[in-house]
Amino acid sequence: MITLKKCPACASVNIEKFIETEDFFLSKETFSLSKCRNCQLVFLNPRPDSDELIKYYQSDQYISHHSEGLNPFVALYRYLRERNISYKYNLITKLVKYGSLLDIGCGTGEFLNYFSLKNWQVKGVEPDLDARKHAKAEFGLDVYDENMLNGFNDETFDVVTMWHVLEHVLDVNQRVKTVNKLLKKDGIFVVAVPNYLSWDAAHYNRFWAAYDVPRHLYHFSPNALINLVEKFNFKFLELKPLKLDSYYISLISENYKKGRLPYLNGFINGLKSNIYAKKKQNYSSVIYFFRKN
Ligand SMILES: [Zn+2]
Repeated sequence: MITLKKCPACASVNIEKFIETEDFFLSKETFSLSKCRNCQLVFLNPRPDSDELIKYYQSDQYISHHSEGLNPFVALYRYLRERNISYKYNLITKLVKYGSLLDIGCGTGEFLNYFSLKNWQVKGVEPDLDARKHAKAEFGLDVYDENMLNGFNDETFDVVTMWHVLEHVLDVNQRVKTVNKLLKKDGIFVVAVPNYLSWDAAHYNRFWAAYDVPRHLYHFSPNALINLVEKFNFKFLELKPLKLDSYYISLISENYKKGRLPYLNGFINGLKSNIYAKKKQNYSSVIYFFRKN
């Protein structure tokens, strides 16, 4: 385990204990989070080193493409995923009509495939081998391992996206710097992360599923995320909610705390979170849009 004495984003030594929580998903081990008083970043501390971290990942956690058929949950999942992708497409194409896109952490490639079918030039980076194989076999996409982030030419892409990926990345400063380098001038960086200032985060506290220790190394408030990205020659444009995430996170959190009627209460709390979020835009998960200067 590695103990951090400084904030991994802004290097401030002004850090405090934030919360203790558990790996409810896999190992059942307890982990601690620290908070930077300077930039509001919350981070896993101490954290396993990069070799140890691998064992906390399972590659079969998403719904397999073999589970076809009439299962209504699979059908609902697919319908919502499709809706979610077209929502993202509409937001992005308001800023860039058409061009080249890199999705970092592209998973099995559904998002990239959607853009590809709209005649965008797309590439993906994905650390999980099985997901990469699926993206290539199913959709014929160009998907690479993470080393390729150093292999692309500078100023190659009009848009770079990271959907629920930055919270997993070991060195966040380095990653944002790399994204800046890969974007063309005026290119758009789209990054979505959970928001620990959301109503559902406060409600579920240590059971909040988006803490997902130790796989999530970082937790961002809107200020923490915007400050981090703007350090690397980006201008913040706007933020948008990912409203489905509050339901999904609330349902999993209900299961973690072994609550009664998890589907019903997960739904109610997901809805509450979205309603309370309207004023301060403190949604459970947020998409941030930046332009490269
Ligand atoms: Zn900090």
